[in-house]
Amino acid sequence: MGQVLIPDAEAFPAVADALVIDGGIVGVATAFWLSRAGLDTVLVEMRDGLSTLTTPQSVECFRAQFTEPAMAELAKPSIELFENFSELIGIPGYDISLRHQGYLFVTDDPGMVGQLEAAVEKHHTLGVTDSEFLSGKELHTRFPYLSERAVAATFRQRDGWLSSHEATQGFAKGSSARFLLETRATGILQDGQGVSGVETTRGIIATRTVVNAAGPFAGVVGRMAGLELPLEPVRRQKVFIAPQPQIPQDAPLSIDLGQDVYWRPETGGAYIAWVDPDEPVSEPAEEIPTDLYHAATVLDKLTRLFPFWEEVAEDLKKADVRPSAGQYVYTPDEQPLIGPVPAVPGFYLNCGYWAGVMLSPEAGKRVADLVTGAMAPQDNPLRPTRYEEGVVAEGDSFLRGRR
Ligand SMILES: Cc1cc2nc3c(=O)[nH]c(=O)nc-3n(C[C@H](O)[C@H](O)[C@H](O)COP(=O)(O)OP(=O)(O)OC[C@H]3O[C@@H](n4cnc5c(N)ncnc54)[C@H](O)[C@@H]3O)c2cc1C
Repeated sequence: MGQVLIPDAEAFPAVADALVIDGGIVGVATAFWLSRAGLDTVLVEMRDGLSTLTTPQSVECFRAQFTEPAMAELAKPSIELFENFSELIGIPGYDISLRHQGYLFVTDDPGMVGQLEAAVEKHHTLGVTDSEFLSGKELHTRFPYLSERAVAATFRQRDGWLSSHEATQGFAKGSSARFLLETRATGILQDGQGVSGVETTRGIIATRTVVNAAGPFAGVVGRMAGLELPLEPVRRQKVFIAPQPQIPQDAPLSIDLGQDVYWRPETGGAYIAWVDPDEPVSEPAEEIPTDLYHAATVLDKLTRLFPFWEEVAEDLKKADVRPSAGQYVYTPDEQPLIGPVPAVPGFYLNCGYWAGVMLSPEAGKRVADLVTGAMAPQDNPLRPTRYEEGVVAEGDSFLRGRR
């Protein structure tokens, strides 16, 4: 069983086989797999708990509907790992509140229909054979809350959502790693062989393997190792709407592709969000402000394809609307950076996520496979060196938040 602690001098380890920087879901999943591979693994987290920065701000959804091969290759097995989570972590009955309510990408633009058909064909060639293209009467019969304007959609029932907090805690409990809270990494130490340790606010931990999975702060941690990583944090806001009778609770995550807005049911209410493609790049931060009028803008946009939101909006009181925000982290091809950095031997990345919750199980496993040699760096299409090698496969999956 993993140990989560605020270490005193006695409990602070002097040495580790592998050290992970990040107490969010990506880092904790990585520590899980490293410890399962038999490595004495230590994770350092600067805040006072696991899953307290971006991870809990997530809308907690997962999907296999990707058109980039490398993303589908992570997403599909990740969903299978979530589906078998209690067996994976070895704690019978452990519940991550997984719901297979589906993802529905909808358009009212006849000019986009071919793009949706092509996306579904691509899913199928990538092994995601259960996504569907829907249009006309079938679309409206299956999703009666849609506006008459909606002309086509892609849908996959096995997509859905879960509790990212429970999943993070589960990875920690099912590991044999030590999770050191209130312990900030302040420096990456190197010698002639490469990484030799990590300096923290509580002292130095000697190690030859460090994983930088520090979410929005991965660029800062990269600089500690002398690297300028191509990472761009961008604020993303979401709003919880308190329970309202008009919100269909059996609906999937429903996305209006023309406006980059989406919603999904949550405990009688809903999460609503707008992935604004014009939101500027920002500095990594622990406190991310929300915009005063953001909720009103999203509600207004949602009424176009989901007209019941107009009625909901009319009934809402201030206390029913709870905004929050975190940061996506983009890379030049909007796909994560996973694996060793050859310039700094022993320094690994697992960062650059805008969909880190859903990809974390398989991404963490891949890092462990690269560390142990079970996977060769060249077999990993998301290796950080892909840009200088010129082997970048640009993506076109829906709702990346960039155009
Ligand atoms: C509004 C919104 C909606 C989203 N919806 C989804 C979704 O539906 N599905 C999905 O898959 N993803 C979604 N995401 C993205 C997802 O939340 C992130 O990709 C994911 O949580 C990243 O996890 P992480 O562990 O990399 O980062 P984080 O959760 O940010 O964790 C990073 C941790 O590293 C710690 N840290 C940083 N620097 C140091 C240091 N020097 N020393 C020690 N600790 C340090 C931080 O304190 C933090 O706890 C959403 C994000 C937002 C903002």
